[in-house]
Amino acid sequence: MNEKRFMNAALKEAAKAAEKNEVPVGAVIVFNGKILVRAHNLTETKQQVAAHAETLAIERLSKKIKNFRLDGKTLAKLLNQPEGESTMFVSLKPCEMCMGAIKAARIDKVIYAADQTRTDLVYKTEFLLSSNEKIKKQASEQLTNFFKQQRKDN
Ligand SMILES: [Zn+2]
Repeated sequence: MNEKRFMNAALKEAAKAAEKNEVPVGAVIVFNGKILVRAHNLTETKQQVAAHAETLAIERLSKKIKNFRLDGKTLAKLLNQPEGESTMFVSLKPCEMCMGAIKAARIDKVIYAADQTRTDLVYKTEFLLSSNEKIKKQASEQLTNFFKQQRKDN
């Protein structure tokens, strides 16, 4: 699996969010080496606390396949593909709300780039993997630059 390529797709989504003045977070859901859905944070645009990249990706893919279960087994059956793992790539470590949604949707694996820096959003979880240092840095910088720009604008 090409982790870097998928994380770059998530970062591209995050950049789209930044263009809309949203906190830059992007997510993609991958199955059998293919991106099934892409989404970015739209909290401000929609004025919805739940409009995070992860929840939007889950919502869109569930709608598309008409099933809330996004585990590899279900996806394989519905998409008529060999069994594999469903993986979410997200540019920032998911918050608790999104982690709950990810678990409820039964996504097999989550790979994130930047760590949460807000301590109130930090929590323990067992199945998160952190991606490589360069991408981690890129994702963190995307967020730092966004907030730097925000402070300049205000
Ligand atoms: Zn979230």
